[in-house]
Amino acid sequence: VSEESELESAIKNAENLHGHLGPFLVIGVRMGMIALSTLKLKEKGELQATLRTPLSTPFSCIIDGIQATTKCTVGNQKLRVENSQKEIKARFESANTEKVLSIRVHAETISKLINRLSEGISAEELALKIAHVPEKELFTIEER
Ligand SMILES: [Zn+2]
Repeated sequence: VSEESELESAIKNAENLHGHLGPFLVIGVRMGMIALSTLKLKEKGELQATLRTPLSTPFSCIIDGIQATTKCTVGNQKLRVENSQKEIKARFESANTEKVLSIRVHAETISKLINRLSEGISAEELALKIAHVPEKELFTIEER
């Protein structure tokens, strides 16, 4: 399975859960996929995540992207969501490797998306764009 089609099917899966497709959902999916590949988990269930985000749409769509991809959910207590008006940042920890990964969405990316949405560009079109933006243009990733 290529990385590209893996991302596509993860996005499709998240869209099914979430009910629609949008750029912030895709951001959540990409964060979740980075966490899974970086922490090299055998069992997805061993992952724990904390997400800081504004708790309003479209930002909160990220929550479902992470939930669908990592299976860390609010319901199973493996995802904690904290309200933040300042940043969108996820922290992933793996019990078996003791690695910690933090992924912060660039502030410029967030403000660009909000501008595009308010200009009337469709959420689906922006979602496709975000799916193909290189990782380092979207996120600051730290691992320790
Ligand atoms: Zn949404």
